[in-house]
Amino acid sequence: MDQNMLNEICLRQLTLSGVHEGETVAILSEGAERLDYADAFLYAARRLGAAAYHLRLPAPAGSSGAWAVGESGLAANPQAVEALKQADMLVDLKFLLFSKEQFAIQDAGTRILTAVEPAPLLARLMPTPELRERVEVGAELLSKASSMRITSPAGTDVTYRLGVYPTMSEYGYTDQPGRWDHWPAAFVFTGGADDGVDGTIVLSPGDVLLPFNTYVQAPVTFTIERGFITDIRGGLDAELLSSYIKSFDDPRGYGMSHVGWGLDERAHWHGLMQFPGGMGMELRSFYGNVMFSIGPNNELGGPNDTPCHFDIPMRGCSLFLDDEPVVVDGDVVVPEMRPAGRH
Ligand code: FE
Repeated sequence: MDQNMLNEICLRQLTLSGVHEGETVAILSEGAERLDYADAFLYAARRLGAAAYHLRLPAPAGSSGAWAVGESGLAANPQAVEALKQADMLVDLKFLLFSKEQFAIQDAGTRILTAVEPAPLLARLMPTPELRERVEVGAELLSKASSMRITSPAGTDVTYRLGVYPTMSEYGYTDQPGRWDHWPAAFVFTGGADDGVDGTIVLSPGDVLLPFNTYVQAPVTFTIERGFITDIRGGLDAELLSSYIKSFDDPRGYGMSHVGWGLDERAHWHGLMQFPGGMGMELRSFYGNVMFSIGPNNELGGPNDTPCHFDIPMRGCSLFLDDEPVVVDGDVVVPEMRPAGRH
């Protein structure tokens, strides 16, 4: 993307994020990655009258390819962490999520926005206050629920006992102290009690496996008992999932993690065909997807910090909170969560 356009969308982002005169915006990048994004955010912060600086970490010694969940590159730089804690807002171009350092920076009151997806996607899924409102309606409903049941025509029937972990919202910008968000995003989630997820989940062709960044080709059946996956059955996709999880040699890799639904009608289910190398935020966000996750729940304050993590957005599911329908056959049925024109 042309630098002027990148400047423009980053200006819109920081405007939504409430950046103003007297604030300090820090931008964190690593190696040669996204230096054009860093320039655009510096421009945007300055346009809004904020002080700004760019903190650039060296490229990591060895690159693993898949997500290096929880490795921030900041562990060896405590002085950098201290500096970032002093900022009002941190723009993370490197992906700190799940790291101790990210939590410490948030705890100090710094709001954090992650931006690592391809620039054309950032532009197309530019957050809006209207989308935020609908996400917050969802978060409000979810935070009051004591159970979630998910069903599908393929045979999914799983129940999450709620009420232990907080509800999180992601709508693509952040204007509150200490709050994290990811651009682009439009979904809500929480986690079941550590021993409170039971039932069966059956993945159908077209459901999405992140971070494999692939679409399921053949059904996969998960058996879940007391919060852990006890059996994974099916064809090639099931074997790949099993083999991957097993390679971590960590029983917590079978834990049930966050669960929720997506609300952005502009996000495409086919998104991975367009941006195969991204983080998959478009897939987490597409309207009416029901996403469950496997692995760590430390993001929600839980004890599981395994690095083995899957996010699995599913199509065509129904989701009930305390037996009230929220998503039916992949369509959101709560009027306040539907975009204008879908009533
Ligand atoms: Fe996740």
